Parts: sequence; C-alpha cells; structure tokens
Amino acid sequence: MFVGTAAILPLPAMAMGTEWRLAIRNVHNNESVDAVFARSGRFVPEGLAELNHGLRDWRTGEVFQMDRKLLALLVSLRDKLELTGRTKIELISGYRSPHTNASLRARGGAHTGVASQSQHMLGKASDIKVPGVSLDRLRGAALALGGGGVGYYPRDGFVHVDTGRVRHW
Ligand SMILES: [Zn+2]
Repeated sequence: MFVGTAAILPLPAMAMGTEWRLAIRNVHNNESVDAVFARSGRFVPEGLAELNHGLRDWRTGEVFQMDRKLLALLVSLRDKLELTGRTKIELISGYRSPHTNASLRARGGAHTGVASQSQHMLGKASDIKVPGVSLDRLRGAALALGGGGVGYYPRDGFVHVDTGRVRHW
C-alpha cells in the first residue's frame, strides 16, 4: 500500500495539536457517527473508516472511500457556520452506488436533478442539512467557501455540496 504524500492533508494546513472531527446523523436510518479523522496534520485511519461507513450507500450497504477533501469541506462549512465539532450534520445522501444512482434517476420526482455521472458515485458529494441552520444560510456558507459544487434543494430540504468543479445550481 502506498503511504507517503497521500497521508498529508490536502486542504487548509492544520495546526499541530488540532483535530478535525465530524459528527453525522443519517436521517434515513437514524444512525450516527462521531469521529476524529485528522489530527495534527495527519489522517486518522480509524476515523476515516468510521466516516466512510457513516456515509455509505444506506440503500445497498456499500461502503466507499470518501474523498478526504469532502470531509475537510464539511469541517470548514461547520466552522464557517460557527458551530462546534459536536454539531451533528444531518445526512440525506453520501455515497451512491451506480445501482442506486440509476434507480433514483429512473424514479424522477424529487430526484429529477440526479446526474448520470453524479459526484455522489465518486464519493465526492453529500446532501446535508444542519439542525438550527436555515437552508439559505447553509447554502450561503457553502458558496462562500468556494470548495466545489453547491446545489440548493429547498423543496427537498437539503443542500448538496461536492468537491468537483466550483459551480452552483
Ligand atoms: Zn447531491
């Protein structure tokens, strides 16, 4: 296995002694994960594994290695909203297997915007909301970060964030 530069954090430099922590609750199965995935500039494999599991395709159970930049982006987003590391981000969708993505597309309706080459299938996207934070404010914070794609789905009650090209809809 290659370890080396891959273990170095890709995003904002992290001060020694600091931690990146994410607490996430899946709204579909009410499952929660709360894990430290980086500490003093190094990733924590156990924490990454817990978060990969928490962000798995909950429909099929498939676990994917999520983009670490996405995890860092969620931390930045939470910081931007001036929330603590224990604030639970509510997850509507994280990783999507090709099968799940295809069936959501076929279903249409609330999933009309599901793309054929979704960033969700690459482990680079999440659909989220944050208790006590309006969707409008969540979207504003995500746009201000400029870390990738931001989609606004007020009717469905979530904001999509991904680490793909900077764009919004
Ligand atoms: Zn999405």
